[in-house]
Amino acid sequence: MSKRRLNAITESLQRQQLSVVETGRRSELFGTHVFNEDRMLQYLTKDAHLSIKEAIFSGSKIDRKIADQVAEAMKAWAISMGATHYTHWFQPLTGSTAEKHDAFFDLRPDGRAVEKFGGAQLVQQEPDASSFPSGGIRNTFEARGYTAWDPSSPAFIYGTTLCIPTIFVSYTGEALDNKAPLLRALHAVDIAATAVAKFFDKNVSKVHATLGWEQEFFLVDKALANSRPDIVLTGRTLIGHLAAKGQQLSDHYFGVIPIRAINFMRDLEKECIQKGIPLKTRHNEVAPNQFELAPVFEEANLSVDHNLLLMDIMEKVADRHNFKVLFHEKPFAGINGSGKHNNWSLATDTGVNLLSPGSTPMKNLQFLTFFVNTIKAVDTYEELLRSSIASASNDHRLGANEAPPAIFSIFIGTQLSNVLDELEGVSQGKLSPEEKTELKLNVVGKIPEILLDNTDRNRTSPFAFTGNKFEMRGVGSKTNSAKPMMILNTVVAHQLKEFKREVDALIDKKKLKKDEAVFNVLREYIKSSKRIRFDGDGYSDEWEKEAKKRKLSNNKNTPSAIRVLTSKESLELFKGQEVMSTIEVEARRDVELETYILQTQIEGRVFNDLVYSYIIPSAIEYQNKIIKNVLGLKEIYGAAHKKLSEGHLTLIEQIAEHMVEIKKNTDDMTNARKMANNLKDLNKKAFAYCDNVRPYFDKIRYHCDKLEQLIDDQSWPLTKYRELLYIK
Ligand code: ADP
Ligand code: MG
Repeated sequence: MSKRRLNAITESLQRQQLSVVETGRRSELFGTHVFNEDRMLQYLTKDAHLSIKEAIFSGSKIDRKIADQVAEAMKAWAISMGATHYTHWFQPLTGSTAEKHDAFFDLRPDGRAVEKFGGAQLVQQEPDASSFPSGGIRNTFEARGYTAWDPSSPAFIYGTTLCIPTIFVSYTGEALDNKAPLLRALHAVDIAATAVAKFFDKNVSKVHATLGWEQEFFLVDKALANSRPDIVLTGRTLIGHLAAKGQQLSDHYFGVIPIRAINFMRDLEKECIQKGIPLKTRHNEVAPNQFELAPVFEEANLSVDHNLLLMDIMEKVADRHNFKVLFHEKPFAGINGSGKHNNWSLATDTGVNLLSPGSTPMKNLQFLTFFVNTIKAVDTYEELLRSSIASASNDHRLGANEAPPAIFSIFIGTQLSNVLDELEGVSQGKLSPEEKTELKLNVVGKIPEILLDNTDRNRTSPFAFTGNKFEMRGVGSKTNSAKPMMILNTVVAHQLKEFKREVDALIDKKKLKKDEAVFNVLREYIKSSKRIRFDGDGYSDEWEKEAKKRKLSNNKNTPSAIRVLTSKESLELFKGQEVMSTIEVEARRDVELETYILQTQIEGRVFNDLVYSYIIPSAIEYQNKIIKNVLGLKEIYGAAHKKLSEGHLTLIEQIAEHMVEIKKNTDDMTNARKMANNLKDLNKKAFAYCDNVRPYFDKIRYHCDKLEQLIDDQSWPLTKYRELLYIK
């Protein structure tokens, strides 16, 4: 056995448990490392506190004097907590987070040391960020990027650093990150939804989007993971034969969490709770060594920040527990991949969940309004929503043989389907008093507050209504949720503005009563968005055919999926909602394409390396052993050896045949890569990688996995699935 594999297995088998000491109640630990409401009351003057609250509520600017006060307060608190540095914490288009630390320390002209952190440092910073992807924005405009404080996401202490959540923009104002467009989209949906909510309750003055994510991941022993070059460099296993036992017994799902994993989670939760991440749920997932964590939902921007912070903390805590966390959407072939369901809703500042059925007909009409508008928005922009979750790694789920499919559709359950069917029959124009009563009593009034069949019945739907929220299920486990949340909130904002305009027109021009107008517009939306509703098996061939008839998009890979980003309709939408300019959208498209190309290119190179440095040498080594044995038999038995070595010869030939195929496909793949690399046009290059390079991956893998079954365990160089997934 290769020394690396043997050492890794030995090391992982000898792991000691790392015990975790609970240091207090979760409710008491919560937010102790966050500059939250309590700290603000304690450390800020009344004016400064009001000013921040106003900035969070309306997005207003904080003036410099107040910023100085806030900075002073944050510094005092942070230093009292043992912090020595501060950083602007931001989300470049790489998908993860970035930070550059500066000390609370400066020298005076007389050489004396002082602690320094003022409003200027709080509000704005200029990281040397020239290496972050910008899709050409910075080159075109010769503008540098700067980070700017986002007061709506509170600062927190991580280790000995005060982290200040920020947006990252160019000096000409273009967003270079995922947060800035998300904040703009959240603002757009606030304006649009508040205006519509006022139809039902004049007291509503703000609506915020809520997000509760469910983070799936794999935990693999650190030594075992590090013994695989493909996991180290690409986050997934490029080759590897399925272990004899996979997930077929369903014995891992919701099972007892293994001790090492539970210790990791307890340690992790402690850190997360301190930093204000409201983690609540933990459980085993379907595949061996696969788990899920979910928090209590929060305002969407904060929730996105918390998810990114969680992923970061997870990697660090896992290291302490000798684990490697795999966030890749498909780290192992043949068993379930990982996603990050995004549960989404809209909530008013009066405490109402707009997607929750209520106890009165009026509350239900409000619910139906937001419910139907969301369906309509998703129907109009289904392809754009699909684009928001496209990535090289998520292509292994969406469009491959794994739920949810690449086709967007909405599951709403039978009870609500019946309600929508009834509403389709509402009369045009004014309604008779009898019809109104009938609607109120028997249609709208009959929506139960708890919708029973909505949580678990359809697990393959990409966009399911689950009782009081929609659940977007195609989001990849690695994806920054800011991307899908930005698009979802933008399309809903656009839709709600359309709705308001249409209802107002019916009231003004046709003299309809408000509820009559609402019913009239909803009726038309229900009719025109019917194709997006689907309650069946989301990844059957029949549905694919049916979806094609319904003209729903079915983009199975990233280059195809992101074409829609720059369509005329998309550009108008982003511009209309003031979420992104054309330049910003094009830059994002380019970054997505570049990332896709680079990731596929890296995988191609790793394949090369695995094949020539690991697989072929081991195959030859084992083949030689057999050859030697055949020669030995011949020496002993003479002509009679033929019969005795029939099996040997077949094995020698089989190994040779697979090697021939592996070598041929690897060399062809390398040529295809070279040809792709010569293409200048990013789009063409991405398609070349997708259509001409990627297909070789499966072919190479197929033959490598066959070899893994033929070659003796001693000669196999790579840590096997059995070891990666079952050593706990
Ligand atoms: P499950 O999907 O496992 O049945 P839940 O439906 O209770 O569990 O919650 C799943 C996720 O949805 C959690 O992160 C939860 O906080 C979130 N969630 C619940 N209600 C809302 C809401 N109104 N808006 C956004 N997320 C929500
Ligand atoms: Mg769920």
